Amino acid sequence: MLTKPAVVSRQEWGCPTGANSPDWTPQYTTVTHLIVHHTATPNDDPDWKARVRSIWNFHAITRDGKDIAYNYLIDPDGVIYEGRAGGDNVIGRHATGANKNSMGVALIGNFDQDLLPTEEALDSLIKLLAWKAEQAGIDPTGSSHHSEVGRVLPNICGHRDVGATACPGRKLYALLPRLRIDVSNLIQGIDGEDEVVPSGECVPQPPIVSRTEWGCPTGAESPGWKPRKIPVSHMIIHHTATRSNAKVSTIWNYHANTLGWKDIGYNYLIDPDGVIYEGRAGGEDVMGAHAYDYNHHSMGVSLIGNFESAAPTQKALDSLTQLLAWKAAKLRLDPMGKDQFGTTPTNLMVISGHRDVNATACPGREIYALLPDIRSDVNDIIKDKCR
Ligand SMILES: [Zn+2]
Ligand SMILES: [Zn+2]
Repeated sequence: MLTKPAVVSRQEWGCPTGANSPDWTPQYTTVTHLIVHHTATPNDDPDWKARVRSIWNFHAITRDGKDIAYNYLIDPDGVIYEGRAGGDNVIGRHATGANKNSMGVALIGNFDQDLLPTEEALDSLIKLLAWKAEQAGIDPTGSSHHSEVGRVLPNICGHRDVGATACPGRKLYALLPRLRIDVSNLIQGIDGEDEVVPSGECVPQPPIVSRTEWGCPTGAESPGWKPRKIPVSHMIIHHTATRSNAKVSTIWNYHANTLGWKDIGYNYLIDPDGVIYEGRAGGEDVMGAHAYDYNHHSMGVSLIGNFESAAPTQKALDSLTQLLAWKAAKLRLDPMGKDQFGTTPTNLMVISGHRDVNATACPGREIYALLPDIRSDVNDIIKDKCR
């Protein structure tokens, strides 16, 4: 059996009423569902215990809920805090109409915009949910009837699944499918069945030829351009619209010097032999110059050649799907899904073609027609490696 992860007690975080909640008699339930929340409070805070106390104050006093609503809270450092008084299986007040039969866990912060929860917070969430799921005999990847809600719900669900709320935020909600698998892996790993795969690292990085290796004239760095790390939510596919034997250094020269972009525009390039090249300097998740207004949340990958009327090689496609699967798993993106792009009101496929966002023929008719297959191939790789 999994042991319960370490929890900072109410006395330790300085709950004004200590271990107990004098105005509230604890009631107990059989937990069948685990409900994930965010607190919708700031993501950076100098003192997380003080933040927990202020959430207690808001729930117990401002809202007259007598105590803090959640059963547990988790800060961005992965510290888990005891919430509602009463101990294991106590009924919280975190999801109207769904509090019975539920355990409510909130990640501290707001995950409705660009920010993802930290690895530390997610690891603690996975450990906490795995402990409870195993103890209560809950299948983390299954669904079942929730008695109070009166319908079938995923056993691990988000607050928005049971109430009219944005909680737990768009970004955290999108992580739930992966989270269920991570929880399941952890439980199985303890049984000695499978090795526990660290979340997000289940698809290995394919070999990438570095800038120094392909002979970039400015080497690993890009003088005159300060790399900017971005929250990557989308992957945009291009072609270079060159001959298929064009050298990466030639494309670099065209972007950096002829067009005056200071560096090569794409984050990665792939040649017809399937060799992957590092593009823009600055490492992973650096902002490129490949899609104008859509640079600031996307990774740009370009197949070398012109695919308006010629098909890419199988080797190039295989490398493309490996590259996308590695990053999608790492960033927990859904390769089949759609997501809001930054603050734009429209949803965009997570794997899109350049022509989906700008007036261009790129990535060429032939590659564009393959995008549905590419998405499902990427999805298959992740499903295969990450379960
Ligand atoms: Zn909530
Ligand atoms: Zn393009």
